[in-house]
Amino acid sequence: MSRCARSHSLLLPCLLAAAGPSWAADPVPAESCTTPADVPACVAELTPRDPAAALRMGEPAWQANASADPDVALGLALVDAAGAASRRDAVVEIGSALRTRAALTPEQMLRLLKQLNGAIWVARDAAGIAELEAETARLETRLGGEHDLAELWRQLAASYYNMGAQEDALRVARIALSKVPTHPHLVEYNANQIVFIVSAQQGHMPEAIEALLEVERVGKALNRPADPALLHNATGVFVYAQDWPKAIEYGRRALAAYDAKPRPGLSRAEILSNLASGYEGAARLGQAEALYRQALDSARAEGVSPVAALNNLANVLRRLDRPREALPLLREAAAAIEGAGDNGEAAIVYSNIGAAHADLGEHEAAAVAFERSRALFAQSDNVPRRLELYPRMIDTLDALGRHREALALMREYKALNDESVNVESRTRIAELESAIGLARKESELAAVERARAAEQVAFAALQTSEQRQRSIVYGLLAALLALGTFVVLKLREGRRRRHANAELARKNVEIEAQHRELEQLNAAIRRQSEEDALTGLRNRRYVQTWLDARVAAQAQGQTQPPMLVALLDLDHFKRVNDLHGHEGGDHALMHLGDILRDCGRTGDVIARWGGEEFLWICPGSTLADAPALFRRLRERLQAESLVRPTGTVELSVSMGASLFPAHPSRSGDWPLSLRIADAALYRAKHEGRGRWVGYAITGDGPLLADDELDLAVDLLETRGRLRRVGDAAMTPAH
Ligand code: GH3
Ligand code: MG
Ligand code: MG
Repeated sequence: MSRCARSHSLLLPCLLAAAGPSWAADPVPAESCTTPADVPACVAELTPRDPAAALRMGEPAWQANASADPDVALGLALVDAAGAASRRDAVVEIGSALRTRAALTPEQMLRLLKQLNGAIWVARDAAGIAELEAETARLETRLGGEHDLAELWRQLAASYYNMGAQEDALRVARIALSKVPTHPHLVEYNANQIVFIVSAQQGHMPEAIEALLEVERVGKALNRPADPALLHNATGVFVYAQDWPKAIEYGRRALAAYDAKPRPGLSRAEILSNLASGYEGAARLGQAEALYRQALDSARAEGVSPVAALNNLANVLRRLDRPREALPLLREAAAAIEGAGDNGEAAIVYSNIGAAHADLGEHEAAAVAFERSRALFAQSDNVPRRLELYPRMIDTLDALGRHREALALMREYKALNDESVNVESRTRIAELESAIGLARKESELAAVERARAAEQVAFAALQTSEQRQRSIVYGLLAALLALGTFVVLKLREGRRRRHANAELARKNVEIEAQHRELEQLNAAIRRQSEEDALTGLRNRRYVQTWLDARVAAQAQGQTQPPMLVALLDLDHFKRVNDLHGHEGGDHALMHLGDILRDCGRTGDVIARWGGEEFLWICPGSTLADAPALFRRLRERLQAESLVRPTGTVELSVSMGASLFPAHPSRSGDWPLSLRIADAALYRAKHEGRGRWVGYAITGDGPLLADDELDLAVDLLETRGRLRRVGDAAMTPAH
């Protein structure tokens, strides 16, 4: 379990090790033990009952002539005894002598290699396993394909895996799979688990999922009982792949399998945590909170670290707008890690503490926690999570007016980002840059305004002095009637006053220009932050603001028309990327964006909802309008094909539709409408893609209780509360 990375605000699922090598000892016939020649047989006979005694009995005879001419029968019997007695040192010592100095038949070599492999992985001796691999390949040539070496290869793969040599594990597991003589075969079950876990750990999710399905298929054919560790790992992989319905399905199955038969080395807390992650990803936060709380209780009961559960629970609470409740949990997590030496994990917890303070507007406290997190990240190598820290920390420093530090962090962020380029963080950097530019403008403006105030003071002083000088002049006039002096003074003062007035007017014009520029800058930033950079459509933030305004207007008594909610997802978009490259994929997304913009009517809200998923909201429309809307979109897609240097890009979409509000009693429940549309989209995909499905809740009667609603749209369907609308019978367009 040492390779289980557990800590996060996002979720790193825990992958358990694959089954290790098995200890297969061939039976040796029992004989009476009277002469030295009988010793091997005696050792073999005693081994099943008392392997340690068998080893003691045979070792003196072995020692006597091992260096010159080892006794093969005795050596093999002793290796079996040592294996059974878990004396791995003796297995390696006697086995290596046999392997290098004795002439073994291929069958004897096979038996020896299985034992050696079993002993060597424990010692994490990579060179030793590589030697065994070479020996296995030689043996295979000698045996000429008559023996089944698949299991030996599988054991070698497991040994590589167990010592952390993932590439070798994957390579050798594939060799094992290629050697399987009959199907289904236990080797297929075990070797595919290795492929599954290593692929998942390397982030190759399609390969991992393919291997997982194979493990399940073979497991079923072999009547294997459900394995909670496998199901748990699968949950983790689906969480990585952000396939939330599958993550939830597998998480539930893992929990059921574990409750039926707990597996040592696996904790219930981890299973609950991964399942909760599935719900969290699916934005079913009520369920996620409840499950993380259960995970926390289990972790405490099982005596495993509660840090991951505390941290994840706190994040859900933050997403539920309850940062005040999140803080004590995060502090507890920080205290639990303190001194445990995992800087990366501690950095994540402190970053979350900062974020919770920032949520509460406590910028000073947030800045302190963020700084701690930054220092801890500097001592760990988790770059992606470290990148997440910067935007929040920069925002906080900016809010505190510490622009210079914000700017310095900005540079650090950029440098780090250049090492791990990722589109999202580049967009975020652009946003922050304009925000910081804004701050600079603001301080320039303040300086100009200070200068204007100073001018005004100077002008007032001038007026007073003018007054004073005027009386002096009158005094002089009265006294001396010095007309010449009077004229000269008046002329000079008039010039100065005109000059001051002109200067003041110029400053005013300048300030007004700066104000206008600032407003334009603000408008541009607002527009950018509500727009998807690739397609120019709205983004999630805009939709949320738009909905908030709608719900607020409704609360003030302005009735709002119900609306049609349509979720669209490009079909087999991965193939588009595969066939036309990522750039081709991007062009396809822009192309669909243009068509959607064209198809939409005034008042519609069309947004890129994520990856290749789009949201189309039509105020005033109902599910009865959905067929025409979908037809219009599909016809346009077919009529206007996108041609790329790689060829014509075939595009098809599936659509799931619902209403908002979904039911009269849920007038502000946008997530419910979204969940129903999502379930409908899932159904449309499931039924063959290139089509649409809509769901409406039937009847005005009271709905399910809140927590049940949170549970499943399926539940609504099984209780007959969902009416299905859609073109299940329609053939796909392509
Ligand atoms: P399905 O019909 O089930 O929806 O299949 P799919 O292949 O469309 O769905 P899946 O969710 O498995 O894959 C979506 C792919 O979309 C994976 C991802 O690489 C790609 N994708 C997501 N965002 C972008 C993007 O901005 N540009 C490009 N080129 N590809 C993207
Ligand atoms: Mg898709
Ligand atoms: Mg998708």
